[in-house]
Amino acid sequence: MESLIGKVAENLLKHRNTVALTGAGISVESGIPPFRGKGGLWEKFDPMEYAHIDAFIKDPQKVWNVLLKGMKELLDQAVPNDGHKGLVRLEHLGILQTVITQNVDGLHQKAGSSDVIEFHGSFARYRCMACSRCRCSEKMDLSCIPPRCDCGGVFKPEIVFFGEMISTEQLLRSRQAAEGCGLMLVVGTSATVQPAAFMPVIAKESGATVVEINPEPTWLTGNISDYFIRGAAGDVMNRILAELERRM
Ligand code: NAD
Ligand code: ZN
Repeated sequence: MESLIGKVAENLLKHRNTVALTGAGISVESGIPPFRGKGGLWEKFDPMEYAHIDAFIKDPQKVWNVLLKGMKELLDQAVPNDGHKGLVRLEHLGILQTVITQNVDGLHQKAGSSDVIEFHGSFARYRCMACSRCRCSEKMDLSCIPPRCDCGGVFKPEIVFFGEMISTEQLLRSRQAAEGCGLMLVVGTSATVQPAAFMPVIAKESGATVVEINPEPTWLTGNISDYFIRGAAGDVMNRILAELERRM
């Protein structure tokens, strides 16, 4: 394990244009359950019944009551963990440039990362389905479900539901970041949701070294990843940073 951490530290120092791709796993230590795997939300909910845009349009009250209300309350209280903080340290060391995240929890920004591409949107903003007016999270009143705009329309968090398009801007910026990086750190993602899961493939095809951090192997492991560090994001990031600081 230590020689693996040493190799990864060496590569991070060599490629100072690193990009991170993160998934729900990096926020597990902040108390936010992932979708898949043990303790994941999909053990309790059918994604097509609650996380598909058609389900939201058909019955926003049900989706708000069963999924969104609880998720907003959880995210409002969540604080960044050593995984998020470690990526900020890497940025301050001049190693990491950009974080592409599939998460909608805003924890990279809360931790202090300055360039975050929110691939699947964010729970920090809500948009009225009727008039497109935007409202930030702090001003969202959940005493009535579903929350409604002054015009009577229903508010939807600005997250990408299944069946919705990824914003072209986020997609283009992510592709550029993946093509231009020397090293991609893939942290806490099962790499099953497309097109986000394709970013490590783009990085690899463009010549980057791919480093994966996850307690469980994924389809990237052994196919795309040059290094797989098995473990929880916070603990592994702490080890990598200790090794980097020893070498700097
Ligand atoms: P996923 O739920 O499919 O996979 C989670 C991955 O994290 C698994 O591979 C698991 O082994 C790993 N993991 C578990 N604990 C970990 C830890 N302590 N450290 C590191 N890795 C750990 O998540 P995904 O790949 O991000 O894709 C699913 C979708 O889930 C994304 O589109 C995202 O929008 C959404 N999501 C986001 C949040 C959030 O914002 N925090 C939470 C749940 C789901
Ligand atoms: Zn409105």
